[in-house]
Amino acid sequence: MVFSHDRHPDGDPGYDAPLDVAARQARAWLSGIRERPIPPRIGSDEVKDRLGRSLPESGEPAADVIERLAEGVEPGLIATGSPRFYGWVIGGTQPVALAADWLVSAWDQNTGLRTITPGAVAVEELAGEWLVDLLGLPADSEVGFTTGATTAQFSCMAAARDEVLRRAGWDVETAGLAGGPAIRFIVGAERHGTVDLAGRYLGLGSPTVVASDEQGCIRVDALRQELASGSGPAIVLLQAGNIHSGAFDDFAAAVAVAHEAGAWVHVDGAFGLWAAASPSLRHLVTGMAGADSWSTDAHKTLSVPYDCGIAIVRDGRAMHRALSVQASYLQATRFGAEPHEKVPELSRRARGIPTWAVLRSLGRTGVARLVDGLADAARGIADGVGRLPGVEVLNDVVFTQVCIALDDDRATAALSERLWSDGEVLAMTSRWRDRAVVRFSVSNWGTDASQVSRTVAAVARALDEVRSTG
Ligand SMILES: *Cc1c(COP(=O)(O)O)cnc(C)c1O
Repeated sequence: MVFSHDRHPDGDPGYDAPLDVAARQARAWLSGIRERPIPPRIGSDEVKDRLGRSLPESGEPAADVIERLAEGVEPGLIATGSPRFYGWVIGGTQPVALAADWLVSAWDQNTGLRTITPGAVAVEELAGEWLVDLLGLPADSEVGFTTGATTAQFSCMAAARDEVLRRAGWDVETAGLAGGPAIRFIVGAERHGTVDLAGRYLGLGSPTVVASDEQGCIRVDALRQELASGSGPAIVLLQAGNIHSGAFDDFAAAVAVAHEAGAWVHVDGAFGLWAAASPSLRHLVTGMAGADSWSTDAHKTLSVPYDCGIAIVRDGRAMHRALSVQASYLQATRFGAEPHEKVPELSRRARGIPTWAVLRSLGRTGVARLVDGLADAARGIADGVGRLPGVEVLNDVVFTQVCIALDDDRATAALSERLWSDGEVLAMTSRWRDRAVVRFSVSNWGTDASQVSRTVAAVARALDEVRSTG
């Protein structure tokens, strides 16, 4: 009998040919990444033209599809893996993490349940324990691997919402939000936009915003005042690493003030949490471990491929109540929490495995060196670029972020455009403290002293061109 999908009657499943093309194309991309122009050369429309727009009536061999994909898309890709890429907060990929990620795809383990894949769950649990240790957080915290810091934040705040309402005598898991006590959701003026999004997902509405200081840190006096002005369940969002200044909230003071008022404290540390892994930068996060939950990314500082965020919650039971799936076919084992009790998803890939691979490869001292290297590079850029005529460094460079500006917004925007078209360095335009800025976010593990020199030289060149064309 022949089934209609029987393409390989000789029994060959056909993995080799497309994987060979993928490996060759991946190597070509990776070997060119340090020298190719960083920005994409064409837009999405042209990429669609190159790929062919209409759904083919009949198919083509898998290897040809992969060849077409790689050749068609390449000019529309951005070289985020370049050591001179400083756009947004986007990290590169360590070789060991990429290789582990390939295995994750090949193994294709549904990592929602321990019974399905004890192997993948074991790797993720080890990675979780190591992370908590490395970041100096309470040892029995629960760790979930999410798609990014946004969903990690959502996961932590779901636990927060459950717990602060439970303390107020309201079981949100059964009763829902309507008719229950209002939650005061308090943030600093310079929180990341995804904090508001997590609040929206959870039905908390817009946050109450308290003032930040000139580096973007929440003002603890303003937080105290806000907390004293009301009562009832509250969630306070603090920040490790402001995206413009890199600054860290005063955790010791802010956590104490928030806990005095009975609030749950969550720390958004998408990239800044990693300061805790460095003995020389750890002072920036003093008091942070006193919070109730923390979210971060592995796909930024730790340099694993997209996508991997990390949700860490001190009170694991609150996390399980908020996120676990209840179903007769999902019997818990006697081995502890199930993966699906810690993240929004049930079925998902084993996205924590590349994190394990990087941690195993770098070790504790290697992670510290990685984080120190990013901060060193940021200081190097601030020193070098800050010395160029007419350039002002606007922030105190305490971590990985550098914001520069020229005398007026128009010139700053022109500098940014010039850098983009030159392609040697990519830094993004933003607005901070009511000024146009060019922001360097050092997030790539390959940004060493020589790359910093090239960066400063490229900015000097672009600056000359901006000046000479008026
Ligand atoms: C990047 C970032 C986020 C969001 O993380 P995603 O991984 O993009 O979901 C949240 N907060 C801060 C401070 C960030 O830098």
